[in-house]
Amino acid sequence: MSTQQRVYRFGVDEHGTDVTEGASSMNYTLGGKGANLAEMARIGLPVPPGFTITCQTCVEYSGANNTWPDGALDEIAQAEDDLERRMGKKLGDPNDPLLVSVRSGAPFSMPGMMDTVLNLGLNDESVQGLIKQTENPRFAWDSYRRFIQMFSNVVLDVDADLFENAITQKKVVAGVRNDSDLSAEDLEELVAEFKEIFSSYVSAEIHPELVVDGEVCFPSDPSLQLRLAIQAVFGSWMNERAILYRKQHAISDDLGTAVNVQVMVFGNKGETSATGVAFTRNPADGTKEFYGDFLVNAQGEDVVAGIRNTEPITDLKKTPGLEEAGAELEQVFVTLENHYRDMCDIEFTIEQGKLWMLQTRVGKRTATAALRIAIEMVEEGLITRDEAVSRIDPSQLDQLLHPQFDTTAKVDILARGLNASPGAAVGKVVFSSDDAVASAEAGEPCILVRWETNPDDLKGMVAAEGILTSHGGKTSHAAVIARGMGTPCVCGVESFRIDAAKKEVRVEGTDTVLHEGDMISIDGAQGIVVLGAVPLVSAELSGDLETILSWADDIRRDASFGHLVGVRANADNPEDAKLSRELGAEAIGLCRTEHMFLGDRKQIIQTFILTDEPDVRQHALADLLSVQTKDFLEMFREMDGKNVIVRLLDPPLHEFLDDPRALEVEIARAEAQGATAEELAPKRALLRRIDGMIESNPMLGLRGVRLSIVFPDLPLMQVRAIASAAATLKAQGLDPRPEIMVPLVSMTTELAQLRSVIERVIDDVERENTVELDIPIGTMIELPRACVTANEIAQHADFFSFGTNDLTQTTFGFSRDDAESKFIPIYLHRHVLESNPFETIDDGVVSLVKMAVDRGRSTNPKLDLGVCGEHGGDPRSIKKLYRAGVDYVSCSPYRVPIARLAAAQAKLSDR
Ligand code: ADP
Ligand code: MG
Ligand code: MG
Repeated sequence: MSTQQRVYRFGVDEHGTDVTEGASSMNYTLGGKGANLAEMARIGLPVPPGFTITCQTCVEYSGANNTWPDGALDEIAQAEDDLERRMGKKLGDPNDPLLVSVRSGAPFSMPGMMDTVLNLGLNDESVQGLIKQTENPRFAWDSYRRFIQMFSNVVLDVDADLFENAITQKKVVAGVRNDSDLSAEDLEELVAEFKEIFSSYVSAEIHPELVVDGEVCFPSDPSLQLRLAIQAVFGSWMNERAILYRKQHAISDDLGTAVNVQVMVFGNKGETSATGVAFTRNPADGTKEFYGDFLVNAQGEDVVAGIRNTEPITDLKKTPGLEEAGAELEQVFVTLENHYRDMCDIEFTIEQGKLWMLQTRVGKRTATAALRIAIEMVEEGLITRDEAVSRIDPSQLDQLLHPQFDTTAKVDILARGLNASPGAAVGKVVFSSDDAVASAEAGEPCILVRWETNPDDLKGMVAAEGILTSHGGKTSHAAVIARGMGTPCVCGVESFRIDAAKKEVRVEGTDTVLHEGDMISIDGAQGIVVLGAVPLVSAELSGDLETILSWADDIRRDASFGHLVGVRANADNPEDAKLSRELGAEAIGLCRTEHMFLGDRKQIIQTFILTDEPDVRQHALADLLSVQTKDFLEMFREMDGKNVIVRLLDPPLHEFLDDPRALEVEIARAEAQGATAEELAPKRALLRRIDGMIESNPMLGLRGVRLSIVFPDLPLMQVRAIASAAATLKAQGLDPRPEIMVPLVSMTTELAQLRSVIERVIDDVERENTVELDIPIGTMIELPRACVTANEIAQHADFFSFGTNDLTQTTFGFSRDDAESKFIPIYLHRHVLESNPFETIDDGVVSLVKMAVDRGRSTNPKLDLGVCGEHGGDPRSIKKLYRAGVDYVSCSPYRVPIARLAAAQAKLSDR
C-alpha cells in the first residue's frame, strides 16, 4: 500500500476560497503546467479550478504495463466528486453540465509533444444542458463535435482526416465556405456522423469497455471518458515524437507526465470571448513589450495551429467587449514577472469578458533576448548581476556567434514574413520533413518550407538549416521550436503559395516559382527571404553580450569567494590569436606547433626526416629554424604582454610523411609502365623507410616527449626559435611571454632530462643576444601515470596543462576515433554511458585531474594549472574542472565567450 498523495487540487472551492495544494516548486511531482497552475491560483490569479494527477502515477502506470496502481482510481474518483462539489455542477448533467479539459504536463516543457482533450463530459444528455445554460445551440453542438473529434483522435487514434473530410462534405452540402458558417443543425448532424466514424474505426476486441449491445459506441459516461483520456495522456509520454524530443533536449524518460483535469472555460462564446498566447516580453529580441497573439471567438489550439490569422496582443484592450479583460491581462503580465522575476509565457482565455489564466511558465527565448532581458531586469532592480549571469545558457551563445547576411552583398528580397528566430541560413528548398532529413544526410544544407509545422516535423526541423512557413505566427509551432533549437526561422510568409504535393511554391506578386532543390536564403532576425545563396559573415560580440561577459569576468576575477579562473585560447597562428583576444581570451593556453609544418614546409620536414646526409639534414633544420622563428615572432607580437604556451612537437614523425599505400600504388604503376629496377630504387628505399617508421599503435607510440628524447634535434630547434623570437622582440622594447610545454610526459625523469637540455639552449640564446629571458617550462598532464606521480613531476615543472583528450583516451583505454565511430553511440543508447566522455569530461578523469592538482601543488605551491583539451570549452566540463581546482581553461577562439560565462557560472554555483 502506498501512502503518497497522487492527486493535488488547485483553484477555489464553492465558497471562493483558494484550496490549492501544489506550488511552482513541485514541478517534478505536478509537471510544469500543474505546478504553475497551482502557483498562479495561490497568488490570486483567475485559474479555472481542477486537480493534477502526479508524474509518479504515470511512471508507475507505464512501468506496470499500463495498469493502474492500487488506490489511484479511487483517489481520482474522489477528486472528480470534489471538483463537482466545488463547482456546484456535475459531469454529464442534462441541466447544467460540468465540462473539463484533460491536459498533459511534464516536469520540463515539451511544447506540442503530448496530448490534450478539451470539452470532456459532453454526451447526448449533457449537450442539452449546455444548450439550456448558454441558450446557444450552435455553440453546444460545435463543442460536442470538437470533443468527439479530439477524443477519438487523441485517445483512440482515429485518423483526424476522416473527421475533416466529413466537415468538408458538410460544408459543400450546406453551400458554405467556413466552418463557422455551419449551422447548429449541420453540427448536430456532424455529431451523429462522427459517432458512426468512431464506431466503424475503433476495434471491439481492443476496446471491449466501449462495446454496448455488441457494438462499439462513443463512450457517453463522463467518468469513463475521463479515465480513458487520462490513460491516453499517460500513454503519450512514451509516443515516438515525445521520446525523440526528450532525446534532443536531454530529458530523462523516467520522469513521467502529470495530468491536469481542469474546468473548461470557453473562448468561443461569441465576440466578447477570445483565446490567446503571449509573452511578458519579446522572446525574439528581448524588448520590454507585451508580445503574442489572440483570436476572438476561438478555442484552444486555434491560435497555435495558425488556422486563422491572429491579432497582436497589444490590440486586445482596444477590441470592443474585451477592453476590461485586456487591461486585466496586462496587469497579470506585471504580476507574473514580479512574482517569477523572469519573462513569462502565458496561455489565456476570455469567456464573455472574463479573463482566465490557463498556463504560465518561464518563457523560452533566443540568446539575443536572453541577454537583453537579463540586463534590463538588473537595471529594473528585479534581479542581481549574479542572477543575470547565471541565467544565460552558455551553449545558447553559439547562436550569437552564428552567421548573418553579409551586409555588403546586394540582396533582392523575394518575400517577407515574421522574424521568428534569428540567424541567417542558406539552403535548398525542401517540402517535407523526410526530404529535409535525406538532404542533410546527403550533406546538402536545406531550408524546410511548410504551410505550418507540427510535432511530426521535428526530425526535419532538426535536420534543416532554416525553417520557413507561410502561415504561422510568432508563437506558432515552427517559431517556438526553431527558437528553442537556435535555428533561423521566418514564419507567416503570406506571399508563398505552397503546393507540397507538386513540390513547388508560387510567390504571389512575382513571376517566381520555386521548385524543390532551388537555393534560397533566409534571415530570421529580419524576416526576409532571398532567392539564391547570400554570402554570410560571422557575427561580432554585441553590446549586450559584452555587458554580460564583463559581469562574468568580474565574477571570475572576484577574489572574495571561490578561486580565480582564467580563460585562454588554443591558437596556433596570429589570426586566431587576434580573434581570441577580441573574444576575450587572456592568453594562449595552447599553441600547437605541428600545424606550422604543413603546407610548403612539409617538404622541408620530409627532407629532414628522410635524408641520410648530415649536410642536407643540417640545412633542412636551419630552414625550419628560420621559418619557425618567424612564426613565433608574429605570434608573440600579436600577444604582446600576454602568455603564450608553446607545445613542442607532439605527433609521431610519420604523420609528416606520404601515405605508404599511395606510394606502393605509384611504384606498381611505374613498374607496369616499364620503369627499371634502378629507376625505382629511390622510391623503394623511401617506402622501406616509411614502412619502418609506421607504428601499430601510433597514439601510444614514439611521440611527444619520447620523440624529443630519442631525436632531440627538432624540439631543440623549436626551443631556439622560441627563445630567439623572444630575444628579438625584447630588443624592440616589446614584452613577449612565451612558455615551453613538453607533451606526453609520464615519468619525472623524462621531464627532468629534457628540461636541462632546453635550459641549455635558452642559456645559449640569452648569451648570444645578451638578454635575460624568463621562459617557464612546464608539461602536459595527459597520462594517468603523470597524474599519480604529479608530486614528483611538479618539482621539475613551472606549470601543468591538462590535455584532457588524451587523458580521457588513456584513462578509458579508448582510442577516440574508434570509440566514437564504433561503440560510444551504442553505449549512449544503452545507457552504459550517459554522455560522450570526449564532449563532457568523465568523473573518473576529473578524479585524476584533481589528484594531479593536489599532488602537484603539494610539492610546488606556485604551480600554474590549466586545461587545454576540448573540454575547456564545454560548460558542463568547466564546472567539474573548476571544482577540481584548475586556474584556467583554454579552448578554441569561438568558444572563449562561452567559457567566460561558464566559468563564472561554475564559481557562482559552487558558492
Ligand atoms: P500544450 O501543452 O500542448 O500547450 P495545453 O494543455 O496547454 O496543451 O492545451 C492546449 C490548449 O487547450 C490551451 O492553450 C488552451 O487554449 C486549451 N485549454 C486547455 N485547457 C482548457 C480549459 N480548461 N479551458 C479552456 N481551454 C483550455
Ligand atoms: Mg499549453
Ligand atoms: Mg595530447
